[in-house]
Parts: sequence; structure tokens; C-alpha cells
Amino acid sequence: MSHDERTFVMVKPDGVQRGLIGEIVGRLEERGLKLAGAKFMQIDEELAHEHYGEHEDKPFFDGLVEFITSGPVMAMVWEGADATRQVRQMMGTTDPAEAQPGTIRGDLGLDLGQNVIHGSDHEDPGANEREIDLFFDEEELVDWEKSDAEWVYEDA
Ligand code: UDP
Repeated sequence: MSHDERTFVMVKPDGVQRGLIGEIVGRLEERGLKLAGAKFMQIDEELAHEHYGEHEDKPFFDGLVEFITSGPVMAMVWEGADATRQVRQMMGTTDPAEAQPGTIRGDLGLDLGQNVIHGSDHEDPGANEREIDLFFDEEELVDWEKSDAEWVYEDA
């Protein structure tokens, strides 16, 4: 399996306000994933509509846009084997109240609307690359060798 699948991850405004950037980055690093890009930024209305376009007709859409534009987010690209699905597993289910302990949402959240983290949907093929393109220019991503790769992957 290739080790360079990229996925889009974002610490949402609640996670930033609660000082959870380090905790979340730490978990992804400890898992063995490799950071390929990061941007501390505020999402505007237009980007929010593009990013969450699939939910435009849902009753929670306006509240979601208001929330995601309400303060800064930490937008990131993480790389690794099966990275999109692995990050989703680490995140836990959408509603933190239902998420398993040990997952990011299950350990760090209590409320569906403020669920700390976004990760690309592994069940939507191409969602990872679409979201990366939406948030990052190619030259903002760093192609580098992580020195512990041979200790993370048996076949590195
Ligand atoms: N959301 C919400 N109310 C709902 C469902 C979703 O506020 O009833 C928000 C929540 O922040 C979620 C985001 O909309 O993370 C996107 O929903 P999705 O179903 O794509 O969940 P995710 O992929 O984030 O787990």
C-alpha cells in the first residue's frame, strides 16, 4: 500500500478556541502520519459554502456556516497509508455524544454542532483531493522524507 495518500483535516473554531490544536496534531503525529501542509486561517462565507456545499439543503446548514466562519481554524494536509480512512476512524462519529472513547470527538467533545475536527470523507472518493485543492495551492504543500518512516511502515 502506498504511504502517501493525502487527506484534509481541520481543527474547527471550537477546537482552536479550546486550545486543542496541539492535542489533535499530537495524536495525528503519534499515529505515524506525516504533516504535509498547515494554514491557520479564517474561513469566509464563500469558502464555507464551497466546503460544505453538499449540506446546502439541510436544516443545520446556516448554523454550520455561521459556526465554521466564527473564528480561526487550523487547516492541514496529512499524509500516510490509507490516511483518509485512518483519520476518520481516529475522529469518531459525527456526533461526539455517540463517539467511542479513544476517538478525538469521543474524548474531546459533547455536542454535534461543535465537534472539534473535520476530516475528508473516506466514503466519498476524491473528497480528500477536492478539499485539499479548495484550501491549499500545490506550492503550499511540502514534499519531505520523514526519518521515522521505516519504523512506522514495515515495507518503507
Ligand atoms: N452537523 C450539524 N448538525 C447535524 C449534522 C451535522 O451541525 O445534524 C455539522 C457537524 O459539525 C458536522 C458537519 O455538519 O461535522 C458536517 O456533517 P457531516 O455529516 O459531513 O459529518 P462529518 O463528515 O463532519 O463527520
